[in-house]
Amino acid sequence: MANHHQVKAKKKLGQHFLTDESIAKDIADSLSLEGYQHVLEIGPGMGVLTKYLLKKPIKTHVIEIDSESVDYLKANYLNLADRIYEKDFLKFDLTEIFNDDPFAIIGNFPYNISTQIVFKTIDMRDQIPEFSGMFQKEVAQRICSKEGSKVYGILSVLTQAFYNAEYLFTVPPHVFNPPPKVDSGVLRLKRKDNFTLSCDEQLFFRVVKTAFQQRRKTLRNSLKTFNLSDNLKANVIFDKRPEQLSVESFLELTLLIENDQT
Ligand code: SAH
Repeated sequence: MANHHQVKAKKKLGQHFLTDESIAKDIADSLSLEGYQHVLEIGPGMGVLTKYLLKKPIKTHVIEIDSESVDYLKANYLNLADRIYEKDFLKFDLTEIFNDDPFAIIGNFPYNISTQIVFKTIDMRDQIPEFSGMFQKEVAQRICSKEGSKVYGILSVLTQAFYNAEYLFTVPPHVFNPPPKVDSGVLRLKRKDNFTLSCDEQLFFRVVKTAFQQRRKTLRNSLKTFNLSDNLKANVIFDKRPEQLSVESFLELTLLIENDQT
């Protein structure tokens, strides 16, 4: 099936086509289908995952930057034709497709823009109750990791402030054409029931990013730019390094800083 297309996979677009049907089905089946009637697949390529999504009682939309893949999809998935968007996911305003409706995101993602995909999802969390798909394994693990892990960082804390993150399974390189150099990992994010933070959200983002920019320092040192009062800085939480703080502790820390500054 379309082997001529596969060998022309474009490296800069992160094209690694999945060739294992049962893995494609497992990824599609990772969606709970609860709380939304639309799903957006990022980077469908030749539709290996799309065809399993189309069997579900939900409206599938796909966004694909590569015109050759889009032509292939239009020719082979006739019932999808008016829901294929030839766009860059990172630049496209998704409310043009969904207005205010909730939608899930899924994909065997282009790995070169993995973290940007997650950050855009976090930005649009009000409309995205569920997210699942494949990243390079290291990124999938990082998103799901807990405090104390050496891969725990900005991506873990910001994602898990709003979503429960589950690492589902690992996928080896040989089931892709061309095979990537790294293992892949499939994860699922389910938005928390209460995903409104108890603290100032913008301040929370700034605290987390600033703390991890100097991850070996104590918070007392890394958060100097916040001009904290001596009284607050005496709190033992500032003896810690960012990787020691759970998501909950980061939220509490933000609240402390917020109250210190007002
Ligand atoms: N889902 C397919 C293809 C995965 S490869 C499969 O599993 O076989 C990643 C796909 O993402 C490629 O088709 C690539 O063209 C597409 N892509 C890369 N950057 C993109 C972007 N910014 N927006 C939308 N699609 C993108």
